[in-house]
Amino acid sequence: MTGGGEALVAKLGDRLAGLRGRITPNAEMDKITWFRAGGMADALFQPADEEDLAAFLKAVPRDIPLMVVGIGSNLLVRDGGIPGFVIRLSAKGFGEARALSDTRIQAGAATPDKRVAAAALEAGIGGFHFYHGIPGAIGGALRMNAGANGVETRERVVEVRALDREGRLHVLSNADMGYAYRHSSVPADFIFTSAVLEGYGQDRETIRAAMDGVQHHRETVQPIREKTGGSTFKNPEGTSAWKEIDKAGCRGLMVGGAQMSPMHCNFMINTGAATGYELEYLGETVRARVLENSGIRLHWEIKRIGDFRPGHEVQEFLGQLL
Ligand SMILES: Cc1cc2nc3c(=O)[nH]c(=O)nc-3n(C[C@H](O)[C@H](O)[C@H](O)COP(=O)(O)OP(=O)(O)OC[C@H]3O[C@@H](n4cnc5c(N)ncnc54)[C@H](O)[C@@H]3O)c2cc1C
Repeated sequence: MTGGGEALVAKLGDRLAGLRGRITPNAEMDKITWFRAGGMADALFQPADEEDLAAFLKAVPRDIPLMVVGIGSNLLVRDGGIPGFVIRLSAKGFGEARALSDTRIQAGAATPDKRVAAAALEAGIGGFHFYHGIPGAIGGALRMNAGANGVETRERVVEVRALDREGRLHVLSNADMGYAYRHSSVPADFIFTSAVLEGYGQDRETIRAAMDGVQHHRETVQPIREKTGGSTFKNPEGTSAWKEIDKAGCRGLMVGGAQMSPMHCNFMINTGAATGYELEYLGETVRARVLENSGIRLHWEIKRIGDFRPGHEVQEFLGQLL
């Protein structure tokens, strides 16, 4: 933990006075991430709406670090915690999805992907069934170019509203999002607030069947009820991460309470009380073993954020230079 939350909030004093959102000093990140591990953020800010977020961004001096998170289904928080503010968009101000037309949906960035899939079903808009199986919110989907079942977020994006570090509004086109596999090249400090997404007209029965198929597939091949972050590593060119992990003998591998799932070995799970250190050390052990076994350098898909606890640093590939 960093533990400097009260001092940080006190230091900013009047600057934060007019905000309508909620500020929580020393926020426990293990409560708001799927892994249920990691240290504290100095402070958590949950803006009431886009205007409130813009006011916050203008008020907080540039030398104070800011980081936005969504539902935390793709995050590994390190045990030393996160300096500065973590921003989490409130469901009230950013959590609505509604059909704009026969093919378009507008969704706030805190809307769970599943709710967007449900809104699309209700409006008879096809192309969003894949969101039924992704446990994040739209802001994370826009940042990660989340995808499944052969569809990616980039295929649905029309435009995205975002605020920069100074609180200025940008309306980004699909091309502006700079999409690649599980990546957007929009500057890391941009915060997405909502998006217009486009699918196509489709009958509800077909959509419902596609959503059921997504759910059934997940139940059978992924440890979706565990404390996990989804796919740990991106698929390398020409192969699957899980195949390389399996070949390197890492299925079921454990470090403390962290384990590569025996069910889907590219999913890392917290079996109980794993620390951020154990999870990251396990990940780097897998990378080192895969590198040794097949010469492939796996890249993390999970975002690792925050600081190491002193004395518990983890080196990439455990420091192996092969
Ligand atoms: C069981 C399970 C299954 C999964 N299956 C899939 C899958 O099939 N396909 C897939 O792509 N992913 C999958 N994931 C990973 C994860 O759900 C996605 O990456 C999701 O899009 C992350 O959304 P989130 O709201 O949880 O974001 P977080 O995990 O909270 O954040 C992820 C990243 O997005 C950024 N971010 C979040 N909100 C915003 C915002 N408003 N503006 C700017 N940046 C933002 C964060 O800074 C961070 O860099 C799975 C995860 C789990 C646990």
